[in-house]
Amino acid sequence: MDRIKRPRVVIVGGGFAGLFAARALRRSPVEVTLVDRAEHHLFVPLLYQCATGILSEGQIAAPLRDVLKRHRNTEYLLAEVVDLDPPRRCVVAERPGGELVELPYDYVVLAAGVRQSYFGHDEFAAWAPGLKTLADALDVRARVFGAFERAESATDSAERRRWLTFALVGAGPTGVELAGQIRELADRTLRAEFRRIRPEDARVLLFDGGRAPLVAFGPDLSAKAAQALTALGVELHLGSVVTHVDQEGLLVRGPSGVTTEYPAATVLWTAGVEAPPLAAAVAKATGACRDRAGRIRVGADLTVPGHPEILVAGDLMSRTGLPGVAEVAMQAGHYAGRRIRQQVAGRRAARAFHYVDLGSAAYIARGRAVVSAGRLHLSGPVAWVVWLFVHIAFLTGFRNRLGAVLTWSLAFTRGIRRERAFTTHMIDTRRDVYALPGAARRPGKP
Ligand SMILES: Cc1cc2nc3c(=O)[nH]c(=O)nc-3n(C[C@H](O)[C@H](O)[C@H](O)COP(=O)(O)OP(=O)(O)OC[C@H]3O[C@@H](n4cnc5c(N)ncnc54)[C@H](O)[C@@H]3O)c2cc1C
Repeated sequence: MDRIKRPRVVIVGGGFAGLFAARALRRSPVEVTLVDRAEHHLFVPLLYQCATGILSEGQIAAPLRDVLKRHRNTEYLLAEVVDLDPPRRCVVAERPGGELVELPYDYVVLAAGVRQSYFGHDEFAAWAPGLKTLADALDVRARVFGAFERAESATDSAERRRWLTFALVGAGPTGVELAGQIRELADRTLRAEFRRIRPEDARVLLFDGGRAPLVAFGPDLSAKAAQALTALGVELHLGSVVTHVDQEGLLVRGPSGVTTEYPAATVLWTAGVEAPPLAAAVAKATGACRDRAGRIRVGADLTVPGHPEILVAGDLMSRTGLPGVAEVAMQAGHYAGRRIRQQVAGRRAARAFHYVDLGSAAYIARGRAVVSAGRLHLSGPVAWVVWLFVHIAFLTGFRNRLGAVLTWSLAFTRGIRRERAFTTHMIDTRRDVYALPGAARRPGKP
């Protein structure tokens, strides 16, 4: 087929869904443009290990140009997609520097993922960063390791305690993983490194409005996770709703309805997700419906109703019963790419998207994890080994896999975390943020 006349496919997002769509189209006679506002594909499930000093940025982020270099029909563009124009069949993207470009398409796959939700309290973000991007992971790293430094130099004992208190909001996999990691690094990695403080005295508080951590794993594994967290020294506060966050710490309404103040210099937010503004723009342009989190509702074939040329894959799509996990994103991305490939080839398009659930795993600490795969429920060391193999298998690129195995050997056997670098500018930003208008202030305080 003449190159010029090849159908054009624009893929928005180079996460799991976008990358799997690109892979499914690799040998298809189409011209693919993959647009991402980041220059890397991020292995999101291991972000917390980058944030807590085990893995480096390069071990969890693979340059998209490198990942796509053997896809001869694919071009990568660094830009943020801001709108869609279905009548003119083009995607509107903003390049670094602010220039708007239009990318024409015959098919478009929207795979831009979701962002952290603060449930209407976006002002909390200044004090309680989420963990979604590489920048978030580096910010969290600076806050966590910076807090131990600030505690070491604090002269006032209440201040020292505040710096040594880490509060996590949301007891899903990310909150549980971060809580376990902070306790482990306090107990093992940092133990002998400080002279004035005892890092092992650090308090790790985990708040959640629900009745159990890791609810998606079922009651038995959830109970095991709660036991493991408590054994690690994590203070679990269930049935507790965070009502305010600022530079002092947080206010929490407990199960009895009483609000308690927790002084904590480091607050990390891992509760809830919502669709990015792009979803609203797409819904406006196409008439698509959105769910409560703002994700785009799609048909069984992952297309936007009335627009067979617009597909949505991964976290950004909304289909009843499908969780927002990497495996769904990979399978949906692959399905979207295959569907376009079949249509371009004039073949009958694939049947409805069917998700094959291969199970899920969450890491708690060294030797402690939970794995749920159908009727198989594992916890403890066996689950931990399964977790290790699954994550090694899925890490993008052999170099990253090998590097991760070596790094994990050091971290798990000797507690060594080498990826702890942060700049002092990164911890000073807390003060800068407070100077910004709109940053959260405690009710009743000027
Ligand atoms: C901390 C954390 C831990 C997790 N752990 C697990 C786990 O252990 N197991 C599991 O199965 N799942 C896990 N998940 C969920 C899993 O990571 C997601 O389901 C998965 O990443 C979704 O893939 P995606 O391709 O839809 O979106 P993403 O992976 O989020 O990729 C979206 C891509 O789109 C780009 N993008 C966004 N907006 C735009 C725009 N406007 N223009 C251009 N590009 C854009 C982003 O830069 C990004 O590259 C975790 C999630 C988080 C946040």
